[in-house]
Amino acid sequence: MKTLYYKVRAQGVKLLLRLLPRNQSVVYAGRGSSLDLCRQAPLLGYKKVLLVTDRFLDGSGLLDGIKETLHNNRVEFAVYDGVKPDPEFEQVEEGEALLRSEGCDAVFGVGGGSVLDAAKMIALLHRNPGDLAFFDGIQKAKHPGLPLFAIPTTAGTGSETTPASVITDSKTHRKIAVADGKLVPHYVALDAELTRTMPRHITAATGMDALTHAVESFLSKASTPTTREMAAGAARTILAHLPRAWRDGNDMEAREAMLTASFHAGVAFGRTSVGYAHAIAHQLGRVCGTPHGEANAMVLPEVLAAYGESVHGVLADLARRTGLGDDDESSAARALINSIIELRDGMGMPSRPESLKKNDIPGMVKAAEAEAGDIYPVPRYLSRQEIQSLFEGLVQV
Ligand code: NAD
Repeated sequence: MKTLYYKVRAQGVKLLLRLLPRNQSVVYAGRGSSLDLCRQAPLLGYKKVLLVTDRFLDGSGLLDGIKETLHNNRVEFAVYDGVKPDPEFEQVEEGEALLRSEGCDAVFGVGGGSVLDAAKMIALLHRNPGDLAFFDGIQKAKHPGLPLFAIPTTAGTGSETTPASVITDSKTHRKIAVADGKLVPHYVALDAELTRTMPRHITAATGMDALTHAVESFLSKASTPTTREMAAGAARTILAHLPRAWRDGNDMEAREAMLTASFHAGVAFGRTSVGYAHAIAHQLGRVCGTPHGEANAMVLPEVLAAYGESVHGVLADLARRTGLGDDDESSAARALINSIIELRDGMGMPSRPESLKKNDIPGMVKAAEAEAGDIYPVPRYLSRQEIQSLFEGLVQV
């Protein structure tokens, strides 16, 4: 009965994903493009912008070129550097209050997915004042947000292009997923120079996040030939370049390829949504504090295996498009799953969270089942027992 309800709901979500009115981004790409974007700001009429970032990045000097270029081009700026990983309402509210008191006319988000998600919500909240919990769900905001510039410093979330933001209610600690076409940034710079400083563990986790977006988008029931092409291209690039970027952070060809692939995976999943790997990974983030990309890497191969034969055809298609052989369907599907495991293990990533307790599992199963059922057009609905087995397989032995 529940599966039937989810299937009907998925049709509605599919339609919404297709019809969602969204901002069109202007994208600058290539090394130095973040500075080109800063030079554009005064030509577009902006006089004072809010730079949203986190304390580590601001202190590391990564934003110095951006600040200098804004200054040289007579654009004033105020800095909000209070964003924490997995941002909370409090930080969005603080950032928006600073924006108001400083009289800024645009928002520049410079950082990883956490910073970009916070920047997106600051821009939206400014033009739609009220309780942030109101935005939970699809297309809730009435007015477009303040003009938004997004400059990613990780290659993983694709937040610089998605109509989504994930923020945590500071009081209830519940993560809310805001899906609104008005969240798509107006201007984007894909400047791989800013990702060069990522340490290995962040390169690995964010890269696996991008791969999960690509794979789950490819499998989504809402996918189209265009999104499948984009997702497969991203997966192919990530499988080839993530090990290189991880081994040598100064391999700029690999860094650039990863940033582009992460963006394309973001465009694809922004149109198709994701699947059970995300529904389960979000619970690991919430209960065990596992970083988002690491959590996705832990569960993606297991989720693909759990879907079983019903997805072998589509996985084999993806395997062939990524150059992983043209065996029979089941062998090709398995080859893809094995290559994901090899990639994860080869980068020394954990395959289980440290602190998952058996007692936590029932609540996590319920939440993952509801998340996937409510908003993800998954290729096959997993039973509660199947979801529980996935969580049980993640408990340290
Ligand atoms: P993050 O933004 O949380 O950053 C992780 C750490 O990396 C931080 O300490 C940060 O300071 C550091 N860092 C960032 N760039 C760096 C660089 N160039 N050099 C050195 N250190 C750097 O990590 P993330 O994985 O990019 O983002 C995760 C967040 O994104 C989660 O909150 C997740 O829910 C969200 N997310 C959003 C979307 C979306 O579409 N909106 C999609 C996926 C994930």
